[in-house]
Amino acid sequence: MRRFLPLLFLFCGCDDSPQRAEVAASPKPAAQELVNTPEFSGENAYVHCAAICAMGPRYSGSPAYEQQLQYLEKHLRAYGWQTERNSFSAPNGVQMSNLRAFRSTTPCPLLLSCHVDTKVNIAPGFESADDGASGAAVLLELARILNDSRVELIFLDGEEAFARNMSETDGLYGSRFDVARRGAQLPRWQINLDMVGGRNKTIAIPIFDTSDYMYRHYSNAVRSLGYSEEKWSVWPGGYLDDHLPYLEAGVESLNLIAVFSGSNWWHTARDNMNRICPRSLHESGCMTRQLISQLLSEGASVAP
Ligand SMILES: [Zn+2]
Repeated sequence: MRRFLPLLFLFCGCDDSPQRAEVAASPKPAAQELVNTPEFSGENAYVHCAAICAMGPRYSGSPAYEQQLQYLEKHLRAYGWQTERNSFSAPNGVQMSNLRAFRSTTPCPLLLSCHVDTKVNIAPGFESADDGASGAAVLLELARILNDSRVELIFLDGEEAFARNMSETDGLYGSRFDVARRGAQLPRWQINLDMVGGRNKTIAIPIFDTSDYMYRHYSNAVRSLGYSEEKWSVWPGGYLDDHLPYLEAGVESLNLIAVFSGSNWWHTARDNMNRICPRSLHESGCMTRQLISQLLSEGASVAP
């Protein structure tokens, strides 16, 4: 996924040994029922994350991927959303499906996205808890409390590359397909969530891929929520991720992604529920909701 790795990163400390200590000291919350509250619930998102991870690896075309789509569809419909699958084949013939959810068939100005495929051939039982399930968990919990016909959700397939590393031609299959499918009917804004549930995460939006306009919204949201600017920061480069095809097509995109490069868990069996915590999911949900509110409230009258 890494597109640019500045030398700065080599010196700024990516060792997560303090995280490991905290993981060991913090038992996982017990699985529980979903609660009905008007606010975003990190506990609900945690329940979704655990349920998805229990399906095992959800790589493109796998039975578990289909099981995951059915889980998402069931909850989205229960929350009053219409759903639609858009299926296609990757160049190597693997069948893929994006799942869209909307409350109005009129094109929506704001698209919330995440990827729900997991990288193939990592380990038996690979949970891909943060790199896949966490984004879906946050969007699904947002879907419960969000009743706005101007917002569309999309759960993307094929973000992961088939080869070990993502490249310009391997990976982002679902987002590239979706941008092409929409033609001229693109959203005005996109918020993409990727790896948003880890303990002690540091979100670092890729500054090469962030317009001044979206950076301003991000900064305002961090301040409005009273979040730490160290934990909600900026990555001095760009990423190959699902925001990119939309950005290149002219959409104002923001990629909420945690620092993962150099970690001991990314694309390993250690990306499991042990590193997910409800508070982290809660913060990501509140950040997304704050951004939604900012964008939609100004979108009615002010051009970017
Ligand atoms: Zn990945």
